[in-house]
Amino acid sequence: MLLNRSLRLLRTSLMSGALVASCAVLAQGSAHVHGLVNLDVAVEAQTLTVDLEAPLDSLLGFEHRPRTPAQRKAADDAMKRMNDGASLVRPAAAAQCTLAKTTIEAEALQSTAPAGAKDAEHADLDATFVFTCAQPDKLASIELGLFDAFQRIKRIEVQVAGPQGQSKQTLERPQKLLKLAR
Ligand SMILES: [Zn+2]
Repeated sequence: MLLNRSLRLLRTSLMSGALVASCAVLAQGSAHVHGLVNLDVAVEAQTLTVDLEAPLDSLLGFEHRPRTPAQRKAADDAMKRMNDGASLVRPAAAAQCTLAKTTIEAEALQSTAPAGAKDAEHADLDATFVFTCAQPDKLASIELGLFDAFQRIKRIEVQVAGPQGQSKQTLERPQKLLKLAR
């Protein structure tokens, strides 16, 4: 009887342990919310790094491999706009930043899996833009071109980490000016 009860207790604590673990994983990544884009902005010495994570729905309106010519075109256009980092992320001119590197990952769009293979329910696009700034002290703001480039984005949640510490900001369409902590 007693053994039974402690077994049950053990099982309960194992289950809650698993629950805690999966929540921690969720908390690490950003929430997948359609219409939302997450940005991590980090300034370190002369390097400005902008990490973007977006549900494909926020960019395209679908989250699977393109199935029709129209979807293929929409996906190609979205990738093209995403590749134009200098117009999506415009650091204050005084900081004299130049885009040094762009990385884009969107498995659902770039996948070579055969057509008809099962798609995941949701899919993200991750992009990283790295700038080198000659005058990082003058990086007071960044203008974002994301709302112009992607009509489906309603909100951008931004985390900033820089010499002045960390801050969180939310930009709602059509706000485009991200102010950095001064
Ligand atoms: Zn989704």
